Amino acid sequence: MRINSVEFITSAVKSFEYPKATLPEIAFAGRSNVGKSALINTMVNRKNIARTSVTPGRTQTINFFLVNGRMYFVDLPGYGFANVPREVRAQWKPMVEDYLRHRSTLKLVVLLLDIRRQPSTDDASLMRWFETFDIPFLVILTKADKLSRSKCSAQEKLIKNFFMLDEGELVRFSAVTREGREDILTRIMKCVQERIVLTNE
Ligand code: GDP
Repeated sequence: MRINSVEFITSAVKSFEYPKATLPEIAFAGRSNVGKSALINTMVNRKNIARTSVTPGRTQTINFFLVNGRMYFVDLPGYGFANVPREVRAQWKPMVEDYLRHRSTLKLVVLLLDIRRQPSTDDASLMRWFETFDIPFLVILTKADKLSRSKCSAQEKLIKNFFMLDEGELVRFSAVTREGREDILTRIMKCVQERIVLTNE
């Protein structure tokens, strides 16, 4: 897939602030600092359209980007900040849960995990939501350039076993080498196109 255009549309907290649900959506989730902004920027070939995580304490939002005029990339707020005020932490769950449960145009959630780390309990909770709400997901292992090939393979195996994932549910990625970019785009397009086929029936 070629990315021809990307445009920031809006930030939302409540569902009435979302754009109209007319286009397929791909959401991106992960703990703060996992490399979510770097991944979104790399996917759309922009340096800084998705910003590095907001500083803890600031209101977090769901950010919508229109890609090629035909789908939204949705940047979900990061979680797992170290010193987050209780109010901000308390906001996160209903905001993200509401989006994941009720967004009719959501086609795929991309869950980012740092390839060097053991998945957190927050990561595991999100994964349980995907299963409970029956949401298609793809796991991306970020910062693959930071480990040797053999270490990458070992970590990949560990995370795969931890979540009991199938081969096709996991992709390695690096914003530095761009490894994984084409693979992820192809998978995204597949989800978006499946929706178009269904709509035409
Ligand atoms: P976010 O909080 O999930 O949006 O994380 P960012 O995208 O802001 O990345 C957090 C930090 O990790 C930044 O210092 C990035 O430069 C770095 N980073 C992100 N992706 C990669 C990657 O693929 N490779 C390397 N080496 N560093 C990365």
